[in-house]
Amino acid sequence: MKKWIFPLFVASAAIASVTIPKIPWKPNDRSRPVPAVITPGTPSTQESPGKPPSDATILFNGHDLSNWESAKGGPPTWKVGAGYFETAQGGGDIVTKDSYGDCQLHVEFATPNPPHGEDQDRGNSGVYLMKRYEIQVLDSYNNKTYADGGAAAVYAQYPPLVNASLPPGVWQTYEIVFHGPRFAGDGTLTRLATATVFHNGVLVQDHVSLTGPTNWESRPPYKPHPPKQPLELQDHNHPVRFRNLWIREIPDGE
Ligand code: MG
Repeated sequence: MKKWIFPLFVASAAIASVTIPKIPWKPNDRSRPVPAVITPGTPSTQESPGKPPSDATILFNGHDLSNWESAKGGPPTWKVGAGYFETAQGGGDIVTKDSYGDCQLHVEFATPNPPHGEDQDRGNSGVYLMKRYEIQVLDSYNNKTYADGGAAAVYAQYPPLVNASLPPGVWQTYEIVFHGPRFAGDGTLTRLATATVFHNGVLVQDHVSLTGPTNWESRPPYKPHPPKQPLELQDHNHPVRFRNLWIREIPDGE
């Protein structure tokens, strides 16, 4: 009998350290509202972008940048091509006109072909969630750089779990799940921002907790901001292309 005492002790100690969620519905409760019906999207090919899910907000319609503006204000000067858009050198970052909260974000990008430069000076751009938290875009195909600065890194914080990059000029995908931070009325941080990223279908960021906004060679602390903010794309002086951008906001459970 004695051998049972230790496992029981361990089990009860483990339970005490976490909070089991309280679900306000009985198991298999037929009065519980069922999920909304949507039509899922279709995958992209190199030749053409796939279809977004029916409930997604389209951030690029394939023809113009009407959902975007320059981060400095005014219309964006980035170039629009056949079904894609491209950073304009010296054009500066662009931001969405609308703000978004916690989200699933789909991004497709292609780095310049033939490639130019090396390290951080090669196919560099970036996807800034809430204008502050960068998922790095870089040509990381046969291109050495520091670990937390490669493609799909949470810039200067978390390297991707693997380097799943495709060659220059090839369309690549990011599927990002991002939860922004939360702040109390007095500005106290009450929840960390978290990011999960799939790069070309491969899990590369597994629900990592951000230390604050991302920045070159520093890790600045969180500063309070509203739960919805525009999305920003980085102009790093390289002609990186984007297509098929869409976002689905995640309902705030709080
Ligand atoms: Mg960048």
